[in-house]
Amino acid sequence: MLLQVRASPTFLPSTSSSTSSSAQAPAPSPFLGKSGQRRGGPVSLAAAASPAPHRGVARRSVMAAAGAAPAAKLEDADALIDSVETFIFDCDGVIWKGDKLIDGVPETLDLLRSKGKRLVFVTNNSTKSRKQYGKKFETLGLSVDEEEIFASSFAAAAYLQSIDFPKDKKVYVIGEEGILKELELAGFQHLGGPTDGDKKIELKPGFYMEHDKDVGAVVVGFDRYFNYYKVQYGTLCIRENPGCLFIATNRDAVTHLTDAQEWAGGGSMVGAVLGSTKQEPLVVGKPSTFMMDYLAKKFGITTSQICMVGDRLDTDILFGQNGGCKTLLVLSGFINSSVLTLIYALLI
Ligand SMILES: [Mg+2]
Repeated sequence: MLLQVRASPTFLPSTSSSTSSSAQAPAPSPFLGKSGQRRGGPVSLAAAASPAPHRGVARRSVMAAAGAAPAAKLEDADALIDSVETFIFDCDGVIWKGDKLIDGVPETLDLLRSKGKRLVFVTNNSTKSRKQYGKKFETLGLSVDEEEIFASSFAAAAYLQSIDFPKDKKVYVIGEEGILKELELAGFQHLGGPTDGDKKIELKPGFYMEHDKDVGAVVVGFDRYFNYYKVQYGTLCIRENPGCLFIATNRDAVTHLTDAQEWAGGGSMVGAVLGSTKQEPLVVGKPSTFMMDYLAKKFGITTSQICMVGDRLDTDILFGQNGGCKTLLVLSGFINSSVLTLIYALLI
């Protein structure tokens, strides 16, 4: 089987990215990309082409940008595959949309595994733990090991471990179950999360809201049960507990809760806490290089041997570029609505 491209001319502008992972590390974070700041200059999609015909069993829209080199459409998939040993896949919009598997994914993953490539799945969605994501892959008929999955919920716990966050301190969570489970697995005390989802502030004259002075970090991720109680609690911890960290699993503007439309993403929750604290968060998800550095170390691979596959320029592709990887933009997800059918990759 061969991954090919049927494409009209299109391009991405070069990002002239500095891909070193040792610069711009803001204290106290040991990783790059604090608050998701772009390190490679503006990234935008500029494409103009006529629609190509639908063909093949796995119509995938693909553009490629090799490291810091000028981006271009993928002409030789075999050359790309041969040039790297690991493919990192984003999940939402690349592997699935909502609970629907995207066409051609099983064949593509099988093809890459048959060629001996290591596959890793990275998602900014923090609502599930690695174990829960493993079950989702299984439900969709994909055989993926838990060790191959890196969710931002896991990244939050891994980051706290990386800085030796004191075990006698607590973590306040604005987010869902995935973050709690990963914190538990890492041995950290936590409070908040779903149990605070139905709490309300009932103001009376002189009302004073208590908060736990032992909270040393507030982790904010996507939260369908976000409310004012959580914002106030997290704000009190960050503003009043000396040294309290503000950690964001991601700052995604939108997410794919369903395949019918885009939904307000984790960035909306992070933005609320940023607004009340006036503090920038430490971002552990894409495009911060924390997860890239983590898995490169874990698997003992150099980032130049990695190809990052994603559907978003501002998270996935920037994540790959920040890490010094090759990058591959697929138009099956986030970008799809704006430049649908400009380019096609066919699995035949
Ligand atoms: Mg995505």
